[in-house]
Amino acid sequence: MPELPEVETVRRGLEPVMEGARFTKVEARRGDLRWPLPKDFAARLEGQTVLGLGRRAKYLLADLSSGDVLVMHLGMSGSFQVTHPDGQAMPGGYYHARGESRAHDHVVFHMSSGARIAFNDPRRFGSMKLIARSALEHEPLLSALGPEPLGNAFDAALLAQACKGKQTSLKAALSDQKVVAGLGNIYVCEALHRAALSPRRRASTIATRSGAATPYAERLVEAIRDVLRDAIAAGGSSLRDHRRTDGEIGLFQHNFRVYDRAGEPCPRRGCRGIIRRIVQTGRSTFYCPVCQR
Ligand SMILES: [Zn+2]
Repeated sequence: MPELPEVETVRRGLEPVMEGARFTKVEARRGDLRWPLPKDFAARLEGQTVLGLGRRAKYLLADLSSGDVLVMHLGMSGSFQVTHPDGQAMPGGYYHARGESRAHDHVVFHMSSGARIAFNDPRRFGSMKLIARSALEHEPLLSALGPEPLGNAFDAALLAQACKGKQTSLKAALSDQKVVAGLGNIYVCEALHRAALSPRRRASTIATRSGAATPYAERLVEAIRDVLRDAIAAGGSSLRDHRRTDGEIGLFQHNFRVYDRAGEPCPRRGCRGIIRRIVQTGRSTFYCPVCQR
């Protein structure tokens, strides 16, 4: 499933062909993705200009001249392919293979920039909604989300407060979108390794009893920001280098320290641990039992 860095890389890939451009034609090739497409979907988009393309957690937000916001989510298997007069690009770095069959191009945007943007989603867990800009802050999908991990509001004090008294594992707490938005299995594992904290540690242990930040919380916030920034940088650079590719790009997986590396030596200097895979709340966790305490 795409996580925050992949979605941000997609946003950066779409920005140049969408921002300031008008939807000249919209093809909705089926009536539903995860949910039914909005009523009159194509008609409400056609003729509208994209004033800006933003992101909140894993949602892409296209601000339209009509006052609507097009809210898009990639789900499990969604991806965009951009075709324009200069060539082709598939913005976003994905760890898992993306859909190849054009039969799964469910929505196609034709933009006044000359770009044709196809949304491909074999498993159809993706979504597209149109929400009035004035109603956006009350939209349940967005209002339930915790702080943006790369935003200014996210810091050790806030994370500690959210974990105060929590009896769940640190892994489960960080995967909770209400605690911090946009992290999934991969980047939680990677951040915990960078912070040298065990995924099995109780979440409450990064806060004092009154909910103040401990040095663990400080370390963790720094690690989360670092791993996300590195992943976005890797996706962005490969996007520039592979303008015409139709394969996978933005392969931050080469930089994974623990994810999907069970049985390999821990990459931390001086550590002799072996990466282990365990299952927590139904998902694989990868960590080093020696240096992550
Ligand atoms: Zn280690």
